Amino acid sequence: MKIVVLPGDGIGPETMAVTVDVLEAVSSRFGLGLELDHDIMGHESLRRHGATVTPALLAKVKTADGLMLGPAATYDFKDEAKGEINPSKFFRKELDLYANIRPSRTYPGMPNKVGDFDLVVVRENTEGFYADRNIASGGSEMLITSDVVVSLRRITRECCERIARTAFELAMGRRRHVTIVHKANVLKLGDGMFIDMCHAVAREFPQVQVDDIIVDAMMAHVVRAPQRFDVIVTTNMFGDILSDLTAELSGSLGLGGSLNAGRDHAMGQAAHGSAPDIAGKDVANPFSLILSAAQLLAWHGQRKGLPAFAQAAQAIEHACADAVLTGEATRDVGGRLGTAATGQAIVRRILAT
Ligand code: NAD
Repeated sequence: MKIVVLPGDGIGPETMAVTVDVLEAVSSRFGLGLELDHDIMGHESLRRHGATVTPALLAKVKTADGLMLGPAATYDFKDEAKGEINPSKFFRKELDLYANIRPSRTYPGMPNKVGDFDLVVVRENTEGFYADRNIASGGSEMLITSDVVVSLRRITRECCERIARTAFELAMGRRRHVTIVHKANVLKLGDGMFIDMCHAVAREFPQVQVDDIIVDAMMAHVVRAPQRFDVIVTTNMFGDILSDLTAELSGSLGLGGSLNAGRDHAMGQAAHGSAPDIAGKDVANPFSLILSAAQLLAWHGQRKGLPAFAQAAQAIEHACADAVLTGEATRDVGGRLGTAATGQAIVRRILAT
């Protein structure tokens, strides 16, 4: 399997270095034959190539089997004409990575305030309120006068249908429960269509229990009793916000793994941002990126019918859980180690399995 590796900005280089060590460890332990192709994006690419991402990089990623994308300082990138392109948007749009799968679970030995839970947010990734990617060319945010801005939200039947299908297929391998999160009381047409398409797909999965909750009330429900949820399907921006909340509820934003998947391509990418407040201090939690790498391996293994990749993904998850239990993790999750040493603790466990 050939994976392009792009460390990115802020804490990206630290967490990606550890993730690369973990990938090399599972490759040797499970005979995966991983081939890692290291390249650059974000500020470093802007300095060296005049753009945060380039057409040459995209061409390379298209021929690879997967991409590991570090966090990018997207808030710094204001003007696409100056090469300041949001790398997340770029790859999600260019590779049509329509499903953003963001699991959150608690770990034994890690204190949490809401009780144990294990859920997955399935977020539509290519349209919705994301004005920088929901039309074919340019952006869908308009300066009408110097005092008036209109930002358009796009919802299509096709995108609703395919994200709903991803959620129900995922639920079949879990506890068979899908919760639709929406704002159809206000966005009656767009979220009305989203709910209708989710229920249409649900009819093909009669074994799966379905309910729906309005997004604002969902914030209370998920804090009050996250254990009542299994798979949560929602539109782009609601899923982005909700999945940061569920990651933090599980112990830390630094735990939230995330896979961006389409029909032909997939990209592992931490749920969090570049965290400039802690960059370069060896304190960032690398779990989010490591668990995203595990999701990418599992995705590849399932598509290609290669069980060793699923075993490798499981070994990574078990090693992370065990490292937490013994305090060999970063301080945000109650551990006593820095980023690099946490990575070594996980590698040791993988090689010992
Ligand atoms: P952030 O996610 O980077 O950080 C939010 C808070 O969580 C900070 O206190 C940070 O220290 C903490 N945190 C994040 N990741 C952590 C980790 N692995 N371990 C421990 N603590 C962690 O959000 P922000 O500060 O709003 O954004 C910083 C930059 O990242 C901005 O430029 C933003 O646009 C960008 N961003 C990028 C992505 C992405 O590349 N996918 C996602 C979100 C934000």
